[in-house]
Order: sequence, then structure tokens, then C-alpha cells
Amino acid sequence: MLQSAPLIQTTICRSINLILITNDDGVDSPGLLALKQALQKIGDVIVVAPDRNWSAAGHTKTMHKPLRVNQTTLRDGSPAYTTDGAPTDCVALVMLGLLPEKPALVVSGINPGSNLAHDLTYSGTVAAAMEAAINNIPGIAMSIDANHHAAIDFTPAAETAVRIARRVLARGLPRDTFLNVNVPDISFDQIKGARITRMGKRIYRDALVERQDPYGKKYYWIGGEPPTGNLDEEGTDVWAVAQRFVSITPIQMDMTSHALVARLKEWETVVSEQ
Ligand code: MN
Repeated sequence: MLQSAPLIQTTICRSINLILITNDDGVDSPGLLALKQALQKIGDVIVVAPDRNWSAAGHTKTMHKPLRVNQTTLRDGSPAYTTDGAPTDCVALVMLGLLPEKPALVVSGINPGSNLAHDLTYSGTVAAAMEAAINNIPGIAMSIDANHHAAIDFTPAAETAVRIARRVLARGLPRDTFLNVNVPDISFDQIKGARITRMGKRIYRDALVERQDPYGKKYYWIGGEPPTGNLDEEGTDVWAVAQRFVSITPIQMDMTSHALVARLKEWETVVSEQ
């Protein structure tokens, strides 16, 4: 349903550089705050983020329950909106008229943990950028390759976000594409530069943990070690981050295997043949 008037009036007047910021870790995530504080140097920022952690929720769309939107305050005192929906819902709400105007750019993150190779299919951070692409708005997913629980320094990834966002705002992105950016967990000076990469191969080390609940019924928990990746293939996202480069992977919404289209052509008889 189309809204004739925006649901929320903001103090922002027409802005050519309105940047929507969201994430999948929830509105309280320090990665979100670092991203917002960095991007407000280059545009008007508005934060619409989930009220809880949706990591690994993928491209979830809420269809069977209402969505609530509330105003909140970030730790730096600035206003933000939260929703009880998924990252995708946060972007969709804005695209469908929650705010007086549509953003020029959607940036999602900064996710504490990389989103490389097959991770893209699980990632809520990436899904938010994907939702931007579906709505013909440039999107950037930002993640930092930190696999620890200690305090993460988001500054290098935030600075990287500014540089990439500035370029995307100036030049745009082709339709049905977005950028998946992964930053090594090292200081900005130590980063060797950026590489435009392709998706590599993740090696998951998931393990099934079987336990018993207080009533004697078994339950299962998918645990295990953090994933690794195939580091030998030069030019992939996995390789770039391991080599201390910022990995910028252009992703397209067309997931067709174009190589297989030609090879499977002969299968077109499959339904009609006797
Ligand atoms: Mn996350």
C-alpha cells in the first residue's frame, strides 16, 4: 500500500546526501554508532535499526505481524528509530514511506565479524544492502573481520565507509547491484589498500552440540569454530582480507548461473520427452 504522506516527519529538509544507516546487530551496537558518527561527516544521516540482534537472519521480510517503530537515542545523544522487524524491514519501511524522503544511499553495519563468500547468504548486514538494491538505491554492507569478543576498534572500518560512501554518492552504482565491504581488523595505517574482489569459498567448521533440557528432551545447538576460507585463490574476498586489504565485492541480484544456462540448454526437452 502506498503512503500518501510520510509517517514520521523529521527535521531533515530535502537532502541530496541523505544516508540511511541500519545493521543486523541491533540499535545498541557500537559498530552502528561508529558508522553513523563517521558518515555524518559527508551527509545527513538517519538511523533506522532493529531493536535486537538479527545476525544471520538473512533476507527476512516480516509479513505476518505488524511492525512497531519507536524513537530512541544513541549513546552520543543523537536520535534514531528502532523497529521490531528485521534489517530488511528497516530498509523497506523507509522505502515505503516511513520518512519524508528516500535516502540517496543505504549503509549497513558495521558488522563485528566478516561477511565473506557464502556468508552473504546468511548475513542480515548484507540483506539490508540487498533490500536497498531491490529499491534502486545504492547500498553498502560494511563488516570488520574481527573474530573475537574483546572490544573492537571500528575506526578503520568507519573511515573506509566514509571513503567508499563518498564515491558511491558521487557516482552511483548500476541497478540491481550493491557493494559488500570487509575491512581487516587492524589499524587504518596498517591496511594495505583496497582490492575489488569476487566471492571466495568459505570453509565452515560448524558442529552439532546435543544436550538435554530439564525435562529430559534432547535439543540441538549449532556451534563450532568460526569459519575459515580458501586463502589460496587470489582475488577473492577471503584472500583480500587475509592479505590486509579492504575487500570491496560488487554483488549483483541476478543469481543465475549464466555458465549453466548454456550448458543446460539441452535439458529443455525434459518435460516434453516421452
Ligand atoms: Mn551481525
